[in-house]
Amino acid sequence: MADKPPITETRRHQMFPHLDDHDIARLRRFGEVRIFPDGTPIMKAGEVAAGLAFVLKGKIDVRQGGAASRRQSIVEHGPGSFLGELAQLSGRPALVDATAVGEVEAIVVPPNRLRDVLVQEAELGERIMRALILRRVGLLEAGQTGPILIGPFGSSDMLRLENFLTRNGHPHRSLDSATDPCALTLQKQFTIQPEHLPIVLCPGGEILRNPSESELARCIGLVRPIDPDMIYDAAIVGAGPAGLAAAVYAASEGLATLVLDCRSFGGQAGASSRIENYLGFPTGISGLALMARAYNQAQKFGAEIAIPDEAQLLVTDGNRARFELKLGNGETVQARCVVLASGARYRRLDIANLSDFEGTCVHYWASAVETRLCAGQEVALTGAGNSAGQAVVYLASKVKKLWMVVRGGSLEATMSQYLIDRIRGLPNVEVLTRTEICGLEGADAILKRVRWKHRDTAEETTRDIGHVFSFIGADPNTDWLKDTGIHLDEKGFVVTGADNNHLLSTNRDGVFAVGDVRCGSVKRVAAAVGEGSTVVSAIHAYLARQRAAQDQKAAE
Ligand SMILES: Cc1cc2nc3c(=O)[nH]c(=O)nc-3n(C[C@H](O)[C@H](O)[C@H](O)COP(=O)(O)OP(=O)(O)OC[C@H]3O[C@@H](n4cnc5c(N)ncnc54)[C@H](O)[C@@H]3O)c2cc1C
Repeated sequence: MADKPPITETRRHQMFPHLDDHDIARLRRFGEVRIFPDGTPIMKAGEVAAGLAFVLKGKIDVRQGGAASRRQSIVEHGPGSFLGELAQLSGRPALVDATAVGEVEAIVVPPNRLRDVLVQEAELGERIMRALILRRVGLLEAGQTGPILIGPFGSSDMLRLENFLTRNGHPHRSLDSATDPCALTLQKQFTIQPEHLPIVLCPGGEILRNPSESELARCIGLVRPIDPDMIYDAAIVGAGPAGLAAAVYAASEGLATLVLDCRSFGGQAGASSRIENYLGFPTGISGLALMARAYNQAQKFGAEIAIPDEAQLLVTDGNRARFELKLGNGETVQARCVVLASGARYRRLDIANLSDFEGTCVHYWASAVETRLCAGQEVALTGAGNSAGQAVVYLASKVKKLWMVVRGGSLEATMSQYLIDRIRGLPNVEVLTRTEICGLEGADAILKRVRWKHRDTAEETTRDIGHVFSFIGADPNTDWLKDTGIHLDEKGFVVTGADNNHLLSTNRDGVFAVGDVRCGSVKRVAAAVGEGSTVVSAIHAYLARQRAAQDQKAAE
């Protein structure tokens, strides 16, 4: 298949729209006019910029890349054009450098006012928002901005960091520490020992040695400290489809909203290579693309999003009508109500040495990062639900042969017919029913062989396979709720709607549960989105009751 032309070519006119005098006049009330003398750095990669700059006079040169001498020009903005991309929507550090060419006069619109533009000036806001998103896609495609990861390709820590940035839609560059000439020079220059790999060179100049996701996120400004004195109307735990839907509706209806996620936005849906049954997308859409839209939409309405931040404890104090969430990094969030949208996490195969190969050769999602490791090879995939089916369809076009190992007698009971039909049409996929993976062989985190066994005949087969994809279902993410008094069912799902409560209310007034984490929920994107949006009316009703009770107390 021919390489796709870059988005900078195909959608350039939308990426860099020209605003006319009428548009500029409408923007004036949202920002202030500033003058930048020739050569002024208006934006620096790694630093938070003042906002979007709508050019009135002069030119702004925008560049991406590493050393100053080798920075590539992306675009030159003249009058009617504007400087900025998605980072300025949330006030995060810039990904590019921008310099005034000649004296520049521009209207600078800070992030909070930019959100007002997007909401109050619907048509103009749409053009600006589209441009911001396309510019981010362009930066992701080019892979020249953001942090530089240097490490052994395929190592678990390298994959962990690459996955974290990819899943959070953050541009970055990966260099193989063993073969890339630039990586070799940098290792020498900074005397990096192999045990310190992977290292991350952050745009601000810091070097991180094998950082945690949280360290990396803080260094590149993806996540900021939470104001301990702020009392949010709604704190939402989980930025999957349910949590993001709740955030979009809550923030758009004026509630002070915070969303926390310990991993990335998108949840399980973000791991889906192609979602074909979500209403309104007849040609299908990748889960990451769908969830990135929701993530940007929530930010457009002013929802604060903190990733990666993990809720570890929920403290409820009925008398103060306020909740506290204790986070993994020691911070505390205060909120008037809490929405549990922590979804589910993948189940693991019951194989003794499984952990030896997790993170390198046993994968729980199939994205470009994993397929780079097994392109043209034989792989095994286990599972029989829709998530397994999607992964088979995605992987089949990249690998030589795919063995689909299924415990049940057929796919019909667990998978949608459209996926079954598609799998049947794939010549390099073989479905093995009544079969389970029973052994993994290899050493030093490198998988060499996979064994599977027929469940009726006990006949075993061993094949030279280096990568296994596992999609065998999920358990609720509720361990952290065990001591909070929130009712869970015997499998750990959150019980809602008991005692004539609202369908999405837990046993604790002011704590709601939506999406896959909820007992009895339908495990689908549309259902999670539906519940996330529905819960907001229950939140309004709860807050109104609280206010009335307070007013009554005050009157007594
Ligand atoms: C590979 C795959 C493909 C799929 N394909 C489809 C499909 O095509 N169509 C369809 O309708 N459905 C599909 N599904 C199912 C669908 O993705 C889920 O039903 C949906 O994502 C559930 O949304 P949710 O928001 O309730 O939970 P999740 O998506 O599970 O999101 C929960 C989020 O909460 C976060 N979290 C958990 N605990 C904490 C904590 N303590 N603190 C902070 N954050 C926390 C997690 O990191 C996660 O991001 C698929 C699922 C998978 C795995």
